[in-house]
Amino acid sequence: MRATFCLVAALSATLAQAASPARERPPVRVGMIVSCGQQLDAAAARAFERETERLMDPAGVVLEWRAIPRSNFDESFDRVVVVDCRPPAQPPAARTALAITHISNGQVLPFVRLDIGAVSGMLGSTRQSELPRALARVAAHELHHVLTGSTVHDSTGITKPVFSRSDLLSGSFCLSTAAAARLRASLYPAAPLAASAGEE
Ligand SMILES: [Zn+2]
Repeated sequence: MRATFCLVAALSATLAQAASPARERPPVRVGMIVSCGQQLDAAAARAFERETERLMDPAGVVLEWRAIPRSNFDESFDRVVVVDCRPPAQPPAARTALAITHISNGQVLPFVRLDIGAVSGMLGSTRQSELPRALARVAAHELHHVLTGSTVHDSTGITKPVFSRSDLLSGSFCLSTAAAARLRASLYPAAPLAASAGEE
C-alpha cells in the first residue's frame, strides 16, 4: 500500500502564512450536531470525537459536540455540521459508501450521514476496538467537503476519494498538506489589504 503521511512537521512551513490569520482571529467554532448515541457507547463516542478533533487540528477549527436529541438549540456557532449516524434504510449489501455529504444544486450542504455499520463491517470483527478512530477518519473526510464547500479529493490522506481497510486501520492517516491548506484558506480567507493596513 502506498504510504500516507502526517503533516505535523512538513506542514509548518507551507502553512506559515495561512496560520497567521488564525492566530489573529478567534478560531472558527464548528457546532457538531450528532446523533450517534444509539450506535456508539459513551466511551466510543468520546474517542471518536477526540480523534476527529485531532485530525482536524491542522485546519485550525474548534469542534464543539452536541448530541441529538437536545433540549434547546439556542447556541450560535461560526459553522454548523449535522452528522446523522442512524443506519441507512438500505440493506448492508446495497450500501457502497462509508459516509455521504448531501449536495443540492451543486452546493455542498452541512448534512453528513455517517454509516457506522459500513465502517464497522470494513474493519471486521477482530478490529472493532479501532472503530472510533476509523469513524473519525471518515468524518474528517466529510468535514473537509462541508467546511470547504468543495467536492475535491486528493491522491493521499484523508481526502482520498476511496478508503481501503488499510486506510482505516493504518497507524498514520491524516489530512494531506493540500487539504489542510484548502481548509485554512476557506475558513480563514485573507483580509483585504486595505482593511489590514487600516487596522495597523
Ligand atoms: Zn469525498
